[in-house]
Amino acid sequence: MSMGVYIEPLARAVNALSKLPGVGGKSALRLAYHIIDMDPAQVRELCEAITAAKEEIHYCSVCGNFCQGGVCPVCADTRRDRSVICVVRDPRDVMSMERMHDFSGVYHVLHGTISPMNGIGPEDIRIRELLARLDGVREVIIATNPDVEGDATAMYIARLIKPLGIKVTRIAHGIPIGGDLEYIDEVTLSRAMAGRREM
Ligand code: ZN
Repeated sequence: MSMGVYIEPLARAVNALSKLPGVGGKSALRLAYHIIDMDPAQVRELCEAITAAKEEIHYCSVCGNFCQGGVCPVCADTRRDRSVICVVRDPRDVMSMERMHDFSGVYHVLHGTISPMNGIGPEDIRIRELLARLDGVREVIIATNPDVEGDATAMYIARLIKPLGIKVTRIAHGIPIGGDLEYIDEVTLSRAMAGRREM
């Protein structure tokens, strides 16, 4: 979309908004018009909330989940069973698992999956960090997505961990193929967890 007809601050806002996922030029323009009409206090709150989310949210030093401070709420909770680790691709998957309310172990967030096509190898995701926290662990549940990359990652991890005498399980495939954990309802996810199989 040509920005030539817009005054500079409007063109700048449209340009910034159009960098968000799913926001094309027309949607960006509509959002910009809406923001111009908004109450100044609301606009300030919107900007501050976005800035705070970016500045204050970090990754947990133990599991890699989102956190505010050094350790995430799951790792900080002394009632969680540290002998069971559920391995997921990203922090959004932790949110999905937590919505289910019936997993009492802890998590490990890989921040990606092995993908030779995209040049992502085992050393590019947090597998080393997982291996470093296996003391006293009796089960590692691999809950990466049931797609090619998720399966390859699960196999890779299982090959490393099983020889250590730790049980490695994979969540059941009651999940639509290629479906992201993020979009799975709690009942389906709960069943997938209950039906997990030893790898
Ligand atoms: Zn954590």
